[in-house]
Amino acid sequence: MVVQKYGGTSVADPDRIRAVAEHIVRTHRQGNQVIVVVSAMGKTTDDLVRLANDVSQDPHGRELDMLLTAGERISMALLCMAIMDHGVHAVSFTGSQAGIVTDTVHGKAKILEVKGDRIRETLTAGAVAVVAGFQGISTTRDITTLGRGGSDTTAVALAATLGAEVCEIYTDVSGVFTADPRVVPEARKLARVSFNEMLEMAATGGKVLALRSVEFARNYNVPVHVRSSFTWEPGTWVVEEDPTMEEAIISGVTHDTSEAKITITQVADRPGVAAALFRALADESVNVDMIVQNVSTAGHTDISFTVPRDDLHRGLTVMEKVAAEIEASGVSYDAGVARVTLVGAGMKTNPGVAAKMFEVLSNEGVNIEMISTSSIRISCVVQESDVETAVRALHSAFELEKAS
Ligand code: ADP
Ligand code: ASP
Ligand code: MG
Repeated sequence: MVVQKYGGTSVADPDRIRAVAEHIVRTHRQGNQVIVVVSAMGKTTDDLVRLANDVSQDPHGRELDMLLTAGERISMALLCMAIMDHGVHAVSFTGSQAGIVTDTVHGKAKILEVKGDRIRETLTAGAVAVVAGFQGISTTRDITTLGRGGSDTTAVALAATLGAEVCEIYTDVSGVFTADPRVVPEARKLARVSFNEMLEMAATGGKVLALRSVEFARNYNVPVHVRSSFTWEPGTWVVEEDPTMEEAIISGVTHDTSEAKITITQVADRPGVAAALFRALADESVNVDMIVQNVSTAGHTDISFTVPRDDLHRGLTVMEKVAAEIEASGVSYDAGVARVTLVGAGMKTNPGVAAKMFEVLSNEGVNIEMISTSSIRISCVVQESDVETAVRALHSAFELEKAS
């Protein structure tokens, strides 16, 4: 049993849909049970988001999800038609029909359960099951979406619950690279990446896989094969760490321009203040990422943190309210920041990576505004206008174009 997920560019037009259908039929004829997960064609989801923003200043979550899920409905039906032209039966399912049950948070729902009965029946009957990516039905029976890029999550969740041997993610690049190949042309394709490294890459902007999909893959140990639907060549395997293999110090450099920075100035430095601020944000489902609190002077301090730009408006509204309550002097923001990150499992045992990273950025005249680390990652927040320079300089300084 194999799950194959096709992203938007892979099914962008009728020619692409026919090419993908042929590959699915080939896989089916080789004796595999094939479950396909499909994204909306090309930039359909972006177009639908724009349409929503054209008719409303603040599109209602339930209705926005209803709208966005229409994109995947189109591609799944077209793909089935193209498959059936080859004499192989194919049946499409919405997320709801596939039994993908989520929580009730519109726009970023989490999968709670995958029933999958109809998919199993379809496979048993010898047909191909095509499932709309990025969507489900909530516990209160409303249609939900899983967040941008969520088709990857649908695919891995199906692979995990139905017991597929592999989840193949077909996209417009031939695998996971040492950096976004659009920014660093010399970037090198990795043959293999561990779940933990991929998790850090996905969390810091390496959008080739959605973060939640990597969490699922790691938790259920589903091997993920990221590869091209244009060349069909072997791609990158995302798999469990192999302790017998020498780990690269740095596997990749990622960047992310989707966040903004909020600063609360002159906050009283006493217990409970941070709790009040971040509880209020959590209650509004605003995801907070990096947090920096300055040293306090005269009993006051500044607290800065990053949030997704899409949540900036909501975050600011909440913060202004809380800032008044806790008598902070003000709230400011910067929507022009970006994050650059080095990821590598070998960092654990190799000191000096952070020092070298900061030197490289300093040589390029790039100012670091915030820093955060994990055992296998170092991230710096910089100005967005500097981020591509930073990525290229780091990629070259750490010689990532060379095989380790
Ligand atoms: P899909 O529509 O198939 O889901 P995405 O646009 O979500 O495709 O993801 C593929 C894109 O991810 C590539 O076109 C590439 O620009 C980008 N990307 C960012 N970082 C990386 C990386 N480290 N390796 C490969 N691709 C990356
Ligand atoms: N179509 C959705 C998006 O553009 C989901 C996906 O492609 O994974 O975000
Ligand atoms: Mg994607």
